[in-house]
Amino acid sequence: MKNNFDCDLLVVGLGPVGDVLAALATLRGLRVIAIDREHGVFPLPRAAVFDHEVMRIFQMVGISARVAPLCRVPERYQFLTADRQVLLDFAVGSDGPFGWAESYVLHQPAVEGALRERLLELRVDIRTGCSFESLEQDPSGVNVRVRPVDGNGAYTLRARYMVGCDGGASPVRESLAIGLDDYQFDEPWLVLDTIIDEPGDLPLVCEQICDPQRPTTHLVMSGNRFRWEFMIKPGETPADFLEERRIRELLAPWKCADRIRIERKAVYRFHGLVAKQWRSGRVLLAGDAAHQMPPFAGQGMCSGIRDSANLAWKLAAVLREAADESILDSYQIEREPHVRAIIDTAIQMGRIVCLLDPQAAAGRNAQMLARRQSGAQDVSVRYPDLQTGPLLSDSPLAGSLFPQPVIDGVHFDEALGQKATLIGRHLSGIPSEVHLIDLAVDDPTPFTPVLEAWLQSMNAESVLIRPDRHVFGTGSPGDLLAKWNFALRGGSGAPKSDDSLIAERC
Ligand SMILES: Cc1cc2nc3c(=O)[nH]c(=O)nc-3n(C[C@H](O)[C@H](O)[C@H](O)COP(=O)(O)OP(=O)(O)OC[C@H]3O[C@@H](n4cnc5c(N)ncnc54)[C@H](O)[C@@H]3O)c2cc1C
Repeated sequence: MKNNFDCDLLVVGLGPVGDVLAALATLRGLRVIAIDREHGVFPLPRAAVFDHEVMRIFQMVGISARVAPLCRVPERYQFLTADRQVLLDFAVGSDGPFGWAESYVLHQPAVEGALRERLLELRVDIRTGCSFESLEQDPSGVNVRVRPVDGNGAYTLRARYMVGCDGGASPVRESLAIGLDDYQFDEPWLVLDTIIDEPGDLPLVCEQICDPQRPTTHLVMSGNRFRWEFMIKPGETPADFLEERRIRELLAPWKCADRIRIERKAVYRFHGLVAKQWRSGRVLLAGDAAHQMPPFAGQGMCSGIRDSANLAWKLAAVLREAADESILDSYQIEREPHVRAIIDTAIQMGRIVCLLDPQAAAGRNAQMLARRQSGAQDVSVRYPDLQTGPLLSDSPLAGSLFPQPVIDGVHFDEALGQKATLIGRHLSGIPSEVHLIDLAVDDPTPFTPVLEAWLQSMNAESVLIRPDRHVFGTGSPGDLLAKWNFALRGGSGAPKSDDSLIAERC
């Protein structure tokens, strides 16, 4: 076993999830090598929507200013009947409390391009055209066999940890023989990315048209791009749907049909899958390698990017701050229930959209229209806070995202950096590895009154925010720091008497 490591972290797969993980781990001081078997970004149409939390993670990566102009904020996300009555209506365009709009529509390759550019700026050792072949672990590291796709000889990289961000088919997951939990949702759809130079009055919204004759998704994307997705019905042949003639038939009912240029097309099977195990020793899985979901909630990539934000600080804590390795087990403990809640929502939405029986669809419409008239929504897109992991269980806000106020165009997180942050008063004497924001200093920042008001409204003396911007807990500064350090040590040592610390299980 050789102990001269080529890197702290080997990221296998540079889709959006691997890109974000490689960037955040580098920003937190890890030596990262990232490999991808392709030379460029994935060419087929995929993610069209992401949310405020992901934009906040892009901010942490240092690219939100670059990404924002590549995106558009859609006005609404609606589920409609075939004759365009509104079944569900989500106002997704408004700014939420986290500093960014609820939703953005994107052109995935453009955003992935911005991420790759950032990796180059951060001088991450990127090896494209380099395929993962196999791995072997020992107690101190992972030996990974990689092969350049141009045919040059295979070689071995030794890393302290490795994360498989290598997509749905995940050769890394396969090599660990980790099985998948299947939600038994399996629907084939044609997906078209199009360009329309003069879209006329085509609505700038995201729509699910719940037409039992042909369930259809229509999305405005960034610039002059629009997405259409058409369900392929039982008995139809998916390959036929990639033919130009068939595509034109499907688009014909849309007013601007003759001006639609097809940029990219693909047939996908939408399904719900969760890997049974997300960590095996020094190897972890993230993104589609760990979970996949139908796109009706626009959350597959978002969930993977949240994985990266969760994992990056924990790996850095283990490798740079002598945190206990067992904290890595909290990754799946925290992320899996969150992902499963989203898969449930996405499948619930999918079952509404994919109904093909006209009678059942009429019943669905009647029921949902009545509910809507009564003011109720059938489906919530509020996802749960983190429930367990390095969090203070008796702290009411533990696991929630800390708000991000924006004052005069400046986002609060810019003051946070990559470490955990303690916000309170009179912190100057406190020795700490965490970033301190002392509200009692003589030169208050524009954010001081907002933060003071937040603490007051929570009846809290101080708050500790984890590096991934989730609240660890509220309490007295000394107590919070002791419990944070206790959590990083995996729950060993003082404070022993306090059983409120869920982190004990990590
Ligand atoms: C039609 C459709 C619509 C979608 N819409 C949305 C949406 O609106 N919002 C959303 O959030 N998500 C959406 N998704 C999901 C989203 O696209 C995926 O969740 C996301 O791309 C997964 O990212 P990833 O980085 O985990 O994997 P990928 O993007 O698949 O990247 C995996 C990478 O691993 C590399 N790789 C594979 N094998 C190897 C190997 N052996 N060695 C080295 N490298 C390897 C691949 O080349 C690839 O670059 C949609 C998906 C589809 C199909």
